[in-house]
Amino acid sequence: MVFMWSETHRRITLFVANLLGIDSNLARTIAYYVEAPDRERVRKPIKHHDPPKEYIRALCRKARSIFLKYWRQCVENQRPLEYCNKLLTSFANRCGEALHLVQDAVIPSPSTDRELHDFIERRCSKLDPRINLARIACTGIECVDYVLHNLKKASSAEEAIDRATSLSFVLLASMLANPYPPPELVRDICIHRARIRRAMPSMLILSSTLILLSMFVAITTQSIFAFIALLLTLPIAVLELAQIVVDNALASLKLEFASIVMMYTSLFAMSILALSLLPLASLLIVLVSKLVLILLNAKDLKQLLYHSSWYLERVHC
Ligand SMILES: [Zn+2]
Repeated sequence: MVFMWSETHRRITLFVANLLGIDSNLARTIAYYVEAPDRERVRKPIKHHDPPKEYIRALCRKARSIFLKYWRQCVENQRPLEYCNKLLTSFANRCGEALHLVQDAVIPSPSTDRELHDFIERRCSKLDPRINLARIACTGIECVDYVLHNLKKASSAEEAIDRATSLSFVLLASMLANPYPPPELVRDICIHRARIRRAMPSMLILSSTLILLSMFVAITTQSIFAFIALLLTLPIAVLELAQIVVDNALASLKLEFASIVMMYTSLFAMSILALSLLPLASLLIVLVSKLVLILLNAKDLKQLLYHSSWYLERVHC
């Protein structure tokens, strides 16, 4: 079965790839894969006009991680051409599928209004892709959030082609964006790294106290919660000590995040245990947990890690 929109998918994709100055071979491969979901409809039961956003997000993240791998291995190092082409094909495959679903999502679904769907797709096949570049201002993973937030159905063919082209431009630009983290992100990562270094002695004291406390409680009460707390607090001290030798700031942030999660879970286990023994102590532990999260800027740290996941993991400070 031939889909009217299939050729339009191809035209939109080649148009934005050309605007972005993408190598013509890569552009053609992405355009090949942008049509693929209609050919493989039977194998993958994804609703093209109402695609799950998390599925598109996962495709974009995968495509970006393949692109970063390509950069590391083929641009910074000279891996064999055949291997590099395979990576690019694999990138184009994910990227093409994500673009296809984003482009389909702006067209009303045939299951809700077959006539409108057919009318818009037919009319789109006669329109030229167009774009309003002035509206686009993002580079990293926030572009994916922007695209997913704007996946709205168009009410006319003009609106559909405009939205499909603009969103495809943003998505493709972000997937092929500079692999090195932008200066403002590096600055924030370094500020956080300095904060982690300052907090290290307190984290070591806190985790040692927790180890001793949970060990004591585990022995005296034989409670499973105390054992869980003990099991979680032991690695925190190791993770904190590892901060001394870790050179990469992003790796340091990841270690810190892991130790915060473990400390929080361990404190939570202790508070459940304290609830049955000494309710007031439970309240105190909950307060300490909140304080730990605030003092270590856990929320900022999570955001930083989210944005850094779009770039190569190399920040030294
Ligand atoms: Zn489709």
